[in-house]
Amino acid sequence: MECLPSVWLMVRTMSEKKIDDEMIAWGKEHLGAIPIDGIWSPDGSGVQYKKTGENEWSLMFMYNHPESKGMHEQLKALMFACGYTLLEGDGTQEIVPPLQPERQMQEEYERRQAVAKLWKCPTCEYPLANNELDMRVDEYVETSEIELSNGEHTPIELWRCLINCNGCGTVIPMEPDDYHLLAGDEYFMRCFINGYRYSALTRGEMKDLADAGIQTGVVLGGTHEGERVPPWMWGIYAVKTKMYESSEEE
Ligand SMILES: [Zn+2]
Repeated sequence: MECLPSVWLMVRTMSEKKIDDEMIAWGKEHLGAIPIDGIWSPDGSGVQYKKTGENEWSLMFMYNHPESKGMHEQLKALMFACGYTLLEGDGTQEIVPPLQPERQMQEEYERRQAVAKLWKCPTCEYPLANNELDMRVDEYVETSEIELSNGEHTPIELWRCLINCNGCGTVIPMEPDDYHLLAGDEYFMRCFINGYRYSALTRGEMKDLADAGIQTGVVLGGTHEGERVPPWMWGIYAVKTKMYESSEEE
């Protein structure tokens, strides 16, 4: 099973790298997995592409920002290296980002969320947004090393989120960032360990509990009760609830 149209590590480290065989292999796999009419908009790039043919992409919009232009050149080179043509011009929209960074982040987020709502099951095309997103399973994939800007290396854990397609029953693996975009904060910021659910609280909820003198939550580390904790839950104050569904889940 392919992961869904997002990028992740590869594009985040791309600007410093030349396009090598590893990236071409990655590009062929990921760009190939996106269906025709699928949208590709790498995180933080300010560019969005649509797959308009088996071997063709079209640039939909680009931020009027030097970094977006640089990113676009990199992505274009990657597409060519993977055997695609890229149409740019007539239909392309140039977006001037808002002056305030918060407003810009909000707009970018809304744009990405609108794209996520269009994602479909790769097998049966059932809309992913209509699945029972609260019933995901987090799966540890591997630990890899990334290079920091100061030249040191640090290990990072790669995980994926598995959801079930309501249309055909297929298990669909997703990048955690993609799942987050699709399902929202509340569902993303929880995890399931040994039949219990650990849920993060909002600041308001934490304040209310603290005011009431109730502090029964736990701060999650890298592991909890012998099980790995997904990295986005590390250092989170979480409330533990027994899962009603645990018997039928097995
Ligand atoms: Zn399906």
